[in-house]
Amino acid sequence: MTNTIIIIVVVAALAGLLPAFIAQLKGKSFVRWWVYGVFLFPVALVHALSIGMGAILQTKRCGYCRSMVRMDAPHCPRCGYEFIDWS
Ligand SMILES: [Zn+2]
Repeated sequence: MTNTIIIIVVVAALAGLLPAFIAQLKGKSFVRWWVYGVFLFPVALVHALSIGMGAILQTKRCGYCRSMVRMDAPHCPRCGYEFIDWS
């Protein structure tokens, strides 16, 4: 019985590393995401994979040629107009 609990804890700790690594690659806190992954592995994994997806799905309009461009694009792929990042 004790062995089963130890195995569950070890598996959860190891499983939590996956979303933690993914989140770290995207500039998030490794430790915070590891804890999140240990307790809510499936949720944390999907969440970690979806970081940054919002920027890909969101678009803005180029101020120069009026074409739709990805939200995180540094410049317009059509006319080369450079967007200024105010953040
Ligand atoms: Zn443009």
